[in-house]
Amino acid sequence: MTRIPSASPGHNSSSYSTGLQDQSWMALVRMVFVGTGINLLVFCVLQLLAGNLLFASFELLASLLLLTGAWKIAEVRNPLLLVNLFLLCMFSFLLYIIVMPGASKTAFAWTYIMPVLAYPLLGRVRGGLLSIPFALMAIVFFLYKYEGALDAAGLIDLVNAALCGLLIILFMHVYEGRRAAAHRELQRIAQTDALTGVASRSSFEQALAQSILEAERSHNPLVLVILDVDHFKKVNDRWGHDAGDKALCHICQGLSQRLRISDTLGRLGGEEFGLLLRNTDRAGAEPLVEQLRSQISNNPLRYGNQLIELSATFGVAEWPLDGRTVDDLYRCVDRRLYRGKDAGRNQIVSREAALPPA
Ligand code: GH3
Ligand code: MG
Ligand code: MG
Repeated sequence: MTRIPSASPGHNSSSYSTGLQDQSWMALVRMVFVGTGINLLVFCVLQLLAGNLLFASFELLASLLLLTGAWKIAEVRNPLLLVNLFLLCMFSFLLYIIVMPGASKTAFAWTYIMPVLAYPLLGRVRGGLLSIPFALMAIVFFLYKYEGALDAAGLIDLVNAALCGLLIILFMHVYEGRRAAAHRELQRIAQTDALTGVASRSSFEQALAQSILEAERSHNPLVLVILDVDHFKKVNDRWGHDAGDKALCHICQGLSQRLRISDTLGRLGGEEFGLLLRNTDRAGAEPLVEQLRSQISNNPLRYGNQLIELSATFGVAEWPLDGRTVDDLYRCVDRRLYRGKDAGRNQIVSREAALPPA
């Protein structure tokens, strides 16, 4: 059974290896592209003032490409490839400015931006794989360029620069690993109901909306079930809140055991749960829902040496027959659930009541 649906309906954030959600990752890419683009514009003006027309044109072109990239990134099919390409070009350029004719010795300082960009944009593994070789190459290029100036003072300059770079890489490596783990944990907490361990309301609703989108493409039906535990207030009143909590976990455990791997169980609030049964219609779902109903009513919770009887009422609706949108489905299933309550509880209502005979 799928307890936790995927976090976002668009790209899977794990495909970026950063652990950041798509939108924050996109915002970061935009910021880096715009920042680099503006930076290049400034250098373009400086090169123009220095009379270096070729370099200025190159920087202007790169700047315009980056600003367009920032604007259009959401429409790019493979933004990760674009980011890799950008970093490769940028890092190669940073190596070049160390050795280019007339280069300033301080051009080496730009090397430090490599891990600072690569780790947040590519994640710990890819960020390290890209920035570490480039950082090593920067040292080699520096040695090549200033080979003649490597006296004792020059050597101290080099060791200072290299150690500082190494520490930045180390820091980014540890920081990115911890940040990604913390983000995964936050995501898990947001997607999980703390008491029962099933999907939270928001992740259940995301899964439902996503499943409707998929069903529209595949034309396969799906079934939404909402169940509400009967007279649960009495359980709390009679046995205490702790027993009530245990009863909710007990019900979820029973339900989880009987659901398929493709089904989603979520807690919608209080003692109300949602079930999302994919690729099935109402007729296909009814036997399973009946099993779930009898599972709850035939398996009382053992609480100390007492047995607490439980039951639940179920409303069932099928997409697209009973509603095409999330709201329509909820409305239909709610109506049926409360009809089941009115009719005596511990039952399933999966269709409208037959019209009374004329
Ligand atoms: P009905 O059959 O009409 O659904 O009756 P009910 O008593 O189940 O419904 P009602 O809405 O009156 O009461 C729901 C109760 O569920 C009240 C609330 O204290 C309890 N409840 C909600 N969330 C929790 C929880 O997390 N733990 C416990 N122990 N009780 C909860
Ligand atoms: Mg109830
Ligand atoms: Mg309720």
